[in-house]
Amino acid sequence: MKKKRCVCGVDLGGTKTATALIDFHGNIHHKTKKKTDVSDGAKSVMAGIVGMIRDEFEYADNHEMIVNAIGMGSGGCIDKDKGVVSYATSVFPGWIGMPIKDILQKEFDVPVSIDNDGKVTALGEGWIGAAKGVENFVCIAVGTGVTSGIVISGELYRGYGGYAGEIGHASIEMNGVECDCGNYGCLDAYVGASSIIKRVTKALKKGVKTKINDKIKGDLAKVTPQIVFESAQEGDEFALSVLAEVSKYLGVGIANLINTLNPELIVLSGGLAQAGELLLKFVRPAVKQRINVQATGQINIKLTKLGEEAGVIGAAALAITNMEQS
Ligand SMILES: [Zn+2]
Repeated sequence: MKKKRCVCGVDLGGTKTATALIDFHGNIHHKTKKKTDVSDGAKSVMAGIVGMIRDEFEYADNHEMIVNAIGMGSGGCIDKDKGVVSYATSVFPGWIGMPIKDILQKEFDVPVSIDNDGKVTALGEGWIGAAKGVENFVCIAVGTGVTSGIVISGELYRGYGGYAGEIGHASIEMNGVECDCGNYGCLDAYVGASSIIKRVTKALKKGVKTKINDKIKGDLAKVTPQIVFESAQEGDEFALSVLAEVSKYLGVGIANLINTLNPELIVLSGGLAQAGELLLKFVRPAVKQRINVQATGQINIKLTKLGEEAGVIGAAALAITNMEQS
């Protein structure tokens, strides 16, 4: 029997790492998800990734599949030709300089492609997701941090040093709070997961009345953005106010992007997209307030179609695109 060709997609995020076996049509045949543990340093994170990929190769071997390439999306700025992390914030201690491509190529002996997770996610949405068939769009991923992938005329825009799309570190408050990157007032510091958790725990300590308290049973360490969004969807007033505020800041960031690039479509992905239609309800007016629709044309803002799988599917899209080009 002829073995089914597939690629291994790897999505390294600040809180979780996912690997998957994906065929050339974007179907996922096997998937594994684990917590990203950065407490033992970058080498241990890398060893964890190698172990997860090895398991995928083994699964492929046992199920009449063959892995033709590995694609990976990682936080931070990636030198995609060398496959080395050229910049990362303190979310990934010791990640700068990590020769990911070399390590994986030596270990698995297949072509390896790596890029920033935001860019990779945009590739996935353009391949089989919410931006399929759209030539000019920006995919914004809001999770632990905020990043984006910019697609212009069907091509991913990387910028001079590969840093294009790092909207999370665009300042939206000149004298705002300090960000992990050392700058002040970054979008990341207002809409990233840790900023949501910080805001909510502070209010809980002050005794705010909210369903969130019942869900975490008084244990502040259990506050997650997901619990906040869930409570907002159930109509909890405090949770709704948090989501509204986050959306307002995100709206400023999106409006800045639209005023710079005038894309046809904005796709929202990452953990924040789990807030669903409610998120769009808050974000759309916040964006509209700051753009001139007469000048830009009607801008579409949509939620990811790939949900949690956007990262691994995008990583597969990267691997397949590079295979086709080589
Ligand atoms: Zn920053």
